[in-house]
Amino acid sequence: MDREKYDIIIAGSGLGGLVCGYILSKHGYKVLIVEKNAQIGGCLQTFKRDGVKFDTGMHYIGSMEEGQILHRFFKYLNLLNDVELSRLDPSGYDVISINGEVYKYASGFENFVEELSKKFPDHKTDIQDYVRRIQKIADASPLYKLQEINDYVFIEVDYIKVGINEFIESCTKNKRLQSVLAGNSPLYAGVKDKTPTYIHALINNLYIQNAFRIVGGSDSIALSLAKSIRSHGGAIKTHAEVEEFLCDDQKVTAVLLKDGTTIEADYFISNIHPQITMDKIKAKQIRKIYRERIANLDNSISNFTLFIKFKKEATPYLNYNFYYYDSEDVWASNNYDVNAWPQSYLYMHQSVEQNAPFAESAEMIAYMNWDEVRQWENTNVGKRGKDYEAFKAEKAKKMLDKLEESFPGIRDAIESVYTSTPLTYRDYTATKEGSMYGIIRDKNFPTQTLISQKTKLPNLYMTGQNINSHGILGVMIGAMITCSEFLGLNEIVREIANS
Ligand SMILES: Cc1cc2nc3c(=O)[nH]c(=O)nc-3n(C[C@H](O)[C@H](O)[C@H](O)COP(=O)(O)OP(=O)(O)OC[C@H]3O[C@@H](n4cnc5c(N)ncnc54)[C@H](O)[C@@H]3O)c2cc1C
Repeated sequence: MDREKYDIIIAGSGLGGLVCGYILSKHGYKVLIVEKNAQIGGCLQTFKRDGVKFDTGMHYIGSMEEGQILHRFFKYLNLLNDVELSRLDPSGYDVISINGEVYKYASGFENFVEELSKKFPDHKTDIQDYVRRIQKIADASPLYKLQEINDYVFIEVDYIKVGINEFIESCTKNKRLQSVLAGNSPLYAGVKDKTPTYIHALINNLYIQNAFRIVGGSDSIALSLAKSIRSHGGAIKTHAEVEEFLCDDQKVTAVLLKDGTTIEADYFISNIHPQITMDKIKAKQIRKIYRERIANLDNSISNFTLFIKFKKEATPYLNYNFYYYDSEDVWASNNYDVNAWPQSYLYMHQSVEQNAPFAESAEMIAYMNWDEVRQWENTNVGKRGKDYEAFKAEKAKKMLDKLEESFPGIRDAIESVYTSTPLTYRDYTATKEGSMYGIIRDKNFPTQTLISQKTKLPNLYMTGQNINSHGILGVMIGAMITCSEFLGLNEIVREIANS
């Protein structure tokens, strides 16, 4: 038994857990964050191989100019001095390649329209209509403007019930333009017949304004938040895996860690995936029907990542993200053909310094289903066996063959490659089946697939990418919603808006 008693214990130090820890410790709560891994951050974790640092989750962010929404959050969270950013090419921060033809997303709404209109001169009004509607949807979401609200209305119901495909088809009849507008859908693992429009709109609204890489790795966000939490009097304990949320007949009383320690608190916030959180509660207050509802929700797809270290000064630094598709239907890559894999991928260089002429490293990410690695699901990191290593090597080769098609000669520039699979994500972030963005929001079941920050236990709340939405801004707003249970939503909105 840890003799200390805390006001609030947060289980998990992902972005959601850390932002909650920041807000609540700043308000004087005695906060403890318990993290199962050696490194904090969840998807903000980085790792080093052969002297090169690689990101695992957060690659680029948007709306980071003074006064813009994410900048305001960064300012409030005291992140601006610790997190160095490098602006992606404003004339094309995302490049979408479909059947060998490339299209650029330019920064700024007008530039976005002008740039794409060069490729679709007869559809300029369609593109104008698209960006106007994207902005309208973002505008209809008060929390994304840091606006105080009376009733908690997250977003207009139409934007939840109308699916992404329907939305894009209503913007333009041109099939190729439809595919181009959905081109960065891996950012939200979009599913043609499920993803609600608002997810696409809020994410693209963020990036169209401007897009940045995080220089030196996204762990700088986690480290900065941890520093602030400690300076507010909060504590963070690593190698501390929550085995169970212990309950009396009314509420949670303590967390039981894997090493047998119990730590008490008045309140608890779980940053652990909701389905796994439920497995850690035995209390009968959580009824079977609720457990089953949560357990039966589908999760977004996982991925296979190739981490590439380049030879010194061997390939120029690409200041854009490259989304590749070998078929007209960009949505098809969610149901990919294993034999033709990878039918789509995202390729990005990592930023290690401003205006670097050459790339030091890159990441190449392709969707991968859990089924492909299921046979190794009972193995642990580093001990999965030779057949798993052979599986990874074969996949890495397929990835590089594909990359060569768009970047001829790239193989010669590579010094070494490393890989991760859905198993890696499962084991390092504890998401179900290595899912990238957690539970799939489904326009067909809008309320069932939205997870509340409240649970059936009065002093246990949830936070993270399954509340509100995933991604840097989605999770920060989700954390704000979780903290509203302690501080009031409008108080937090005011505080961030005035910071
Ligand atoms: C491949 C990939 C690329 C991405 N790219 C971008 C991007 O470019 N831009 C962007 O904005 N977003 C991106 N995202 C999304 C973004 O990174 C996530 O939405 C966000 O970081 C998730 O934060 P979270 O709070 O939900 O926690 P998570 O990151 O899921 O962390 C959960 C934490 O809980 C810990 N934990 C789990 N179980 C226990 C336990 N039992 N006891 C104690 N601790 C536990 C885990 O170890 C982990 O640290 C990407 C995600 C992925 C996977």
